[in-house]
Amino acid sequence: MTGGNRGIGRAIAEAFLAQGDKVAVTTRSGGAPEGALEIKADITDPADIEAAFAVAEAAHGPIEILVANAGITADTLLLRMSDEDWSSVIDTNLTGSFRLAKRAAKSMLRLKRGRIIFISSVVGLLGSPGQVNYAASKAGLVGMARSMARELGSRSITTNVVAPGYVETDMTAVLSDEQKEGIRAQIPLGRYARPEEVAATVTWLAAPEAGYVTGAVIPVDGGLGMGH
Ligand code: NDP
Repeated sequence: MTGGNRGIGRAIAEAFLAQGDKVAVTTRSGGAPEGALEIKADITDPADIEAAFAVAEAAHGPIEILVANAGITADTLLLRMSDEDWSSVIDTNLTGSFRLAKRAAKSMLRLKRGRIIFISSVVGLLGSPGQVNYAASKAGLVGMARSMARELGSRSITTNVVAPGYVETDMTAVLSDEQKEGIRAQIPLGRYARPEEVAATVTWLAAPEAGYVTGAVIPVDGGLGMGH
């Protein structure tokens, strides 16, 4: 999985570790949870991705579950958004996830089973002012996942999307108190998610019990998206 050192990714890595799975975690800055195989990789660099898979598969065998979690924001209003703001977010969140899934699918097709899980966002479905680039990248994951679900389904490989709402992590820590309060007021459950609440949906999707779920977008958003 990618970005397993902080926030949602760390909670996902810890949840898999707690159930006894072998977990390889990529990070740029280090700090993977104890028990995980830590691999330095930047997912915007195709060579890093290839090398990360080689290290992970040498240690743990063929990848059975991919969780593409690493992601960034570069928020600003449309007319101020530079090409660099746009392309850095698309390259990390969407193109990075494409590269990871393509490489993981190679192993999974050989195994004739697998789970690909993308971490999208409620913002990809509802939109959000100041997040044209981020919303586009997260919406793109949905079309990508559903196309992969159709391509890979006959080999028992499922491809799904988890769409969290607002979660307490470094990514949302940058919001002002006023912004946070404005968002909270729109969430039926009246609070942000804990990273572990997103992780529980990811481990469920990866489990044998979810073997007939593919091409799905599963919200973990306190009701914010209401089925979108
Ligand atoms: P954080 O900002 O806390 O962590 C981001 C993670 O992504 C870090 O592990 C970081 O690694 C990694 N990462 C970023 N860019 C790269 C890169 N180029 N190559 C490799 N790793 C990279 O984010 P969250 O935990 O909040 O978010 C995780 C995912 O969940 C993201 O995809 C985000 O869009 C999504 N999400 C978050 C929500 C929220 O409210 N927090 C809501 C909905 C979705 P490093 O530490 O090494 O930089």
